[in-house]
Amino acid sequence: MTKEKIMHYEPFFKLFKKIAERETRVITFLTNEKIPIGSYAFVPSYCADKQCDCRRALVSVYEDKKEAYSKQPLATISYGWEDFKFYRDWSGGFEDKMIQEFKGPALDSMQPQSQYAPFLLATFIDLIEKDEDYAQRLQRHYAFFKYKKGMRMPSKLRALMNPLTPCACQSGKIFKLCCGKNRSRLRKGKRR
Ligand SMILES: [Zn+2]
Ligand SMILES: [Zn+2]
Repeated sequence: MTKEKIMHYEPFFKLFKKIAERETRVITFLTNEKIPIGSYAFVPSYCADKQCDCRRALVSVYEDKKEAYSKQPLATISYGWEDFKFYRDWSGGFEDKMIQEFKGPALDSMQPQSQYAPFLLATFIDLIEKDEDYAQRLQRHYAFFKYKKGMRMPSKLRALMNPLTPCACQSGKIFKLCCGKNRSRLRKGKRR
């Protein structure tokens, strides 16, 4: 019994330019034998389906240069922050191996990867393990994203973001009236 899930991902920065400019993680390697010297941006995308609470980021890594963003990423990392059981229940019958990759952190086998992908994955894992704030930020961005897509927010996501608190772009306005504005309309009455 497997359930096909076709998921459409959109970069966080497309919906939240100002927050993304402040909060996208860029790592600079000054001396490293494993990757050319330079800066690398870890750019998250999230699933755009407002009915789907998959709690996962797809993090694409680019050289941090304007032209690099239109090219293929050097690595695409899947990262789900909930426990294994969450994704097993959510998938409704994926094989364990698939769930493990979906949850990650792992290189997404559906996406192109470069020779630097294993090193960038190791860098990401290090980041998630040592920087609690970064791990939290990816979850918060997920909640912002789903809010804007018009998801009926489960309490777990509500706990991550309150639309009435100051916006993360530091404008001084509340999120709902700032970067959270122009939310997709919630479909009224109809429940799934
Ligand atoms: Zn989803
Ligand atoms: Zn804002």
